[in-house]
Amino acid sequence: MRPARALIDLDALRHNYHIARQRHGGHILAVVKANAYGHGALACAQALSWDADGYAVAFLDEALALRKSGIKTPILLLEGVFDPVELLEAAHRGLWPVVHHPGQIEMIAKTALPVPLRAWIKINSGMNRAGFSPDDARRAWRQLMASGMVEECGFISHFARADEPGCGATAQQILTFDKATRGLPGARSLANSAAILAWPDAHRDWARPGIMLYGADPMPGEGNGLIPVMTLESQIIAVRNLAAGEPLGYGARFITPRPTRVGLVAMGYADGYPRSAPDGVPVAVDNKLTTLIGRVSMDMLTVDLTDLPETGIGSVVELWGKQVSVNQVAQAAGTIAYELLCNVKRVSFVWNSEQPV
Ligand SMILES: *Cc1c(COP(=O)(O)O)cnc(C)c1O
Repeated sequence: MRPARALIDLDALRHNYHIARQRHGGHILAVVKANAYGHGALACAQALSWDADGYAVAFLDEALALRKSGIKTPILLLEGVFDPVELLEAAHRGLWPVVHHPGQIEMIAKTALPVPLRAWIKINSGMNRAGFSPDDARRAWRQLMASGMVEECGFISHFARADEPGCGATAQQILTFDKATRGLPGARSLANSAAILAWPDAHRDWARPGIMLYGADPMPGEGNGLIPVMTLESQIIAVRNLAAGEPLGYGARFITPRPTRVGLVAMGYADGYPRSAPDGVPVAVDNKLTTLIGRVSMDMLTVDLTDLPETGIGSVVELWGKQVSVNQVAQAAGTIAYELLCNVKRVSFVWNSEQPV
């Protein structure tokens, strides 16, 4: 069997969840959208089911998959519902839709729901992506409560720059949100991972940690004690010795500067390792650090084994995990850990846990 694997450490997931809980307090919705950022939504949700107050996903189908697997706690739909059929299903299954534009209020008012809904009004506090303008928050709330279909209504907003500690934009978003919702009853939810870790002022009734659960610090180097959950690994499947001055791989991007021992790894961009990764990105081979050399191809990539003579065919290669930080790979490849993690595919997934789930 091809040795490309994603090992998912569910104990690390629980550890990170507890850090979110400790740092924020209150209730915690574990964000498991996009297949739990590529880690397997069902396995991750199950692993957290003793701890999590609830979950957040992007849309209905992601929530229904969790319900089918036996998850009974609240599930927030971050994008809300898209049509009345979805709205009915959401009400029926006890899901919590975000309401972020007037069309969704109209839909709720016009649909005869079997059970009253718990909804969350999204306020655009400055990101300018989704949500009601601060001036419209009160009206949205009145309309929703007047619809007779909503028994409880919370308020939610999202930060554009929470991963920049000390950034005035986040402080301003918090002020804007508080002003828009002042005096209105209902729960509040502001903090994503970065705000949980860096913005105590943003801590409210419910937090929404995503990336930190998976052990990638949104502010790398802050020492927040997160443990990487995914190890993306494979093996050396061939070794070749090249003289100095020889080209390696597509486009001959890498020319050997010295006699070089090259390890061929069964992992490529079709598995989710970024093609944009430059020469020099760290990899660990049999627990020792070395570097990627040559362009990443669809199924394979090449690493420098010159200084690791004891390695060879069958040596284990960690592309990211507990030795090579996914943040470091992402930064070198011009992207963020979120994108790398949720793009992992085609490899075999192995979920590990010491604790029964
Ligand atoms: C994805 C998402 C989150 C989680 O963000 P992280 O940065 O991964 O913690 C929280 N809130 C909303 C609205 C989101 O879309």
